[in-house]
Amino acid sequence: MMSTGSKLYEGKAKIVYATDKEDEYLTYYKDDATAFNAQKRGTILGKGEVNCTICAALMQWLETKGIPTHFIAQVSPREMLVKAVRIIPLEVVVRNIAAGSLCKQTGLPWGYQLPFPLVEFYLKNDELGDPLLTEERLQILNGVFNIVSLSQLRQIKEYALRINQYLQEFFRDCNIILVDFKLEFGLDASNQVILADEISPDTCRLWDALEQDTQKRVLDKDRFRQDLGDVEAAYQRVRERVLAQIERLRNS
Ligand code: UDP
Repeated sequence: MMSTGSKLYEGKAKIVYATDKEDEYLTYYKDDATAFNAQKRGTILGKGEVNCTICAALMQWLETKGIPTHFIAQVSPREMLVKAVRIIPLEVVVRNIAAGSLCKQTGLPWGYQLPFPLVEFYLKNDELGDPLLTEERLQILNGVFNIVSLSQLRQIKEYALRINQYLQEFFRDCNIILVDFKLEFGLDASNQVILADEISPDTCRLWDALEQDTQKRVLDKDRFRQDLGDVEAAYQRVRERVLAQIERLRNS
């Protein structure tokens, strides 16, 4: 483990430490897993290493596509050096196929192919259960809490849609269907919006395109949420396919 500064924040899946540089943080990826707003808790053996490695690979690749991210370096299997940001308290969800809360709230069938990518904003607030925002609700909240400016919000939506295009293509080449995912953005030292937090099987729904069975195809945290078993194996499969695709891109 890298020598670390003081613990700044401990979340459900990661710990953030200060470093000797003011504008850099060290994030440590844990094996702890939670679901349903932390009502369900457990551990997924090796998850920290797998998620840190997948996230590092994807963020590095997104940078080559022109998406600014907080990624600096993966300094150990579970540790990532990142740019210090002030996290914007929004969970930005992009959906290509209906699943999860979208089905629960609208009655759309699980697996329904959406006619266009749906971008949604949820307020990052555990006590309130991360409520879905409308742009007008956000505009009103901004008057009280100053969450995000309208120009930053436009920028976030543009990045989210571009990231969706890039990741959909990337995962397609891994024989993985990108169903939906959650992003978080932050403001860096020069107040620019950059991609932060993580992209991993914890934060994406990923279906094995080579598998027709609706339970066997699940390669993400839904295996934990729904007690489908073989959680570790599914995460490892994602890691292998992502790293293989990175290798293919490097050699092409
Ligand atoms: N997601 C996440 N963190 C959250 C909520 C959602 O990473 O706190 C991800 C989730 O894994 C899925 C996508 O965002 O890939 C959409 O999640 P949804 O709104 O369907 O909520 P869920 O039913 O998963 O709680």
